[in-house]
Amino acid sequence: MGKTPDFTSSLHTELFIDGQFVAGEGEAEKVLNPATGELLAQVPEASYEQIHRAVLAANRAFDSWSDTTPAERARLLLKMADAVEANAEAFARIESLNCGKPYARAFEDEIPAIADCFRFFAGAARNLHGPLAGEYLAGHTSMIRRDPIGVVGSIAPWNYPLMMAAWKVAPALAAGNTVVLKPSEQTPLTSLLLARVVADILPKGVFNVVCGRGASVGQPLVEHPLVRMVSLTGDVSTGRKILQAATGTLKRTHLELGGKAPVIVFDDADIDAVVEGIRTFGYYNAGQDCTAACRLYAGAKVYDRLVADLSSAVKTIKMGTQDEAGVELGPLISDRQRDRVASFVERAQMVGHMEITAGGKMRAGNGFFYEPTVIAGARQDDEIVRREVFGPVVSVTRFSDPDEAITWANDSDYGLASSVWTQDVGRALKVARKLQYGCTWINTHFMLVNEMPHGGVKHSGYGKDMSMYALEDYTVARHVMAKM
Ligand code: NAD
Repeated sequence: MGKTPDFTSSLHTELFIDGQFVAGEGEAEKVLNPATGELLAQVPEASYEQIHRAVLAANRAFDSWSDTTPAERARLLLKMADAVEANAEAFARIESLNCGKPYARAFEDEIPAIADCFRFFAGAARNLHGPLAGEYLAGHTSMIRRDPIGVVGSIAPWNYPLMMAAWKVAPALAAGNTVVLKPSEQTPLTSLLLARVVADILPKGVFNVVCGRGASVGQPLVEHPLVRMVSLTGDVSTGRKILQAATGTLKRTHLELGGKAPVIVFDDADIDAVVEGIRTFGYYNAGQDCTAACRLYAGAKVYDRLVADLSSAVKTIKMGTQDEAGVELGPLISDRQRDRVASFVERAQMVGHMEITAGGKMRAGNGFFYEPTVIAGARQDDEIVRREVFGPVVSVTRFSDPDEAITWANDSDYGLASSVWTQDVGRALKVARKLQYGCTWINTHFMLVNEMPHGGVKHSGYGKDMSMYALEDYTVARHVMAKM
């Protein structure tokens, strides 16, 4: 393996407000390397006054930014994509250090998808469509405008910090809005580097980054009267708090919340492909993924083989630190998250009818590691089937009737992602139609493309990330009518 490049000059801790880099005036937040537990940086959070200044700056910048042509915004978004690519190693290195992700995954999977997100929205900005202008009332010409909303407060989680920021910032800017981004207090470093690399690209005030905790920085941002829209990716409970905080100023909200993805495996499925798929898509990013393939329903004829083969496959997943050769699975984000995952597995073990057929333990030593785990014999009412674990834990439940599998899959508060595995195309499409989820994959899981929307129904939230639908979400449709 080559020498690790020096990234220390890229570890920035200053906020980005009105085109200036400034130290946060609030309490310092410790930012850790979850693979060792060591301190990476201390990032002082924004004071209320600094949040206010960021919003005022974004509000001032909105006037001229919203007047730019789509072509001009596209040109700058393309430059942002280039800047992300030009600094790909630093972004990937910092993301992998701060989240514990295998470096190769951050570098090969995430950074290219992030650059592509900016490129997609650069093109999308010039391609908004709508109904034709016309005389829908005699003597009057009507037309539709799609205008930006104003200042957008974007609040991101810790599982894919820069990618979630890109999913929010790119469509918001493409549509002509200005942004105040608040990354997770646990993972602010790549958003702060993004500010550094785009500071000379965007006009002052168009993009701002304030760091800090939800209660002290997120909440005042959401409540600020000049913030016209809030987009959040986070927990369902945080979505509720944001909705409550937004009621005072009646602002638009865009919520991407949790998930508990059902995976229906019919008796005719290619079990080797299922095993390979779940080994990857159930444990990617240590299962800290709102679309993780974590809730399996297996047909009675394939259940035993699936449990046996999946458990053997999962035992071969290589867990380790960011740069270990062949590492596939990193630690969880924090000690707290690992304890949470462990407590789910402990409670499942205590129920009696479930069996841990792979993993089920914390790894001793440094870092917040938890073994990739399979829980067989789970039933529909079990906590492990119903609640989001957000860790490397997959449950398997046996079904005997296909309708029962669909009913169980839909019997969930969540509605983000799902998949169906069968060789019968007709059955796959019929099940896809019945599933109440924002996305259904057939014979795969987890794959996303910037051209297609990502978002949920029910408690998984509303609003779309990626695709033209996201661009629409960050605009308001307006009617202009002229009497002739
Ligand atoms: P979280 O809800 O704890 O935090 C998300 C963000 O919200 C953080 O920046 C946090 O500081 C902020 N926040 C917390 N309380 C706030 C408040 N009162 N006001 C304003 N902001 C506040 O979530 P997390 O633990 O960082 O991320 C994990 C969660 O995110 C999981 O539930 C996961 O399913 C969800 N998630 C969803 C998607 C999706 O696309 N639907 C994608 C990734 C993660």
